[in-house]
Amino acid sequence: MGIFLLLIIHWYASLFFQSVFHHRYAAHGLFTMSRGWERTFFVGCFITQGSSYISARTYGIMHRLHHAHTDKPEDPHSPENTPNLFAMMWDTRNNYKDIHTGKTEVAEKYKKNLPQWDSFDRFAHSGITKALWVVLYIALYMVLATEWWHFLFLPLTLAMGAFQGAVVNWWAHRFGYANFKMDNTSRNILPFDLFFWGEAYHNNHHRHPSSPNNAHRWFEWDMGYFAMRTLHRLQVIRLVKE
Ligand SMILES: [Zn+2]
Ligand SMILES: [Zn+2]
Repeated sequence: MGIFLLLIIHWYASLFFQSVFHHRYAAHGLFTMSRGWERTFFVGCFITQGSSYISARTYGIMHRLHHAHTDKPEDPHSPENTPNLFAMMWDTRNNYKDIHTGKTEVAEKYKKNLPQWDSFDRFAHSGITKALWVVLYIALYMVLATEWWHFLFLPLTLAMGAFQGAVVNWWAHRFGYANFKMDNTSRNILPFDLFFWGEAYHNNHHRHPSSPNNAHRWFEWDMGYFAMRTLHRLQVIRLVKE
């Protein structure tokens, strides 16, 4: 039971930061916030993504490239280029690394208005930090696991952030329904998204990338939009468009 509670909390907390901070804030600039709050979000990413920490700046660049080159050879993660989910995860990891280290040259237009905290990214990405997360996760499993097979979930815990990004980017370009006819393979993967903070409405999002609300039809509900509106009301963030 403890392991499943850990997995559920880890899933929602990690994906909250990927959806709201990385995707909607860093890549699309759907809201603004103070420097203090921005750094709080950086730390939140670190705590929730742990060994699979993703740099907001690099994510922002990579995701902008995805929108600009969807399904084309320049798309940093496309099932059109790599149909196998795990092969696509590996490709995405390599593309992420090359963008992060500057090995891949990126046009200036993709690098504007990105959150940046290089020293924190260096600390969170370092081998020692990652090794300490692995030790902490193993210790948590030793305390919480009551069956041997509970340890089969350990790889998911270790790669949570990368896995969540890959699942949405792979699934939502392969299966699901479309509200809008697009010249790409984007789909909405669930009609009622209780699992992906509204990222399931990927076809809607490709059609309206600057809309804060990914829901479009009456039965669709965007949990991430609800979270952003709540943070807006609490004056933590300022939504550009309400
Ligand atoms: Zn997409
Ligand atoms: Zn996007």
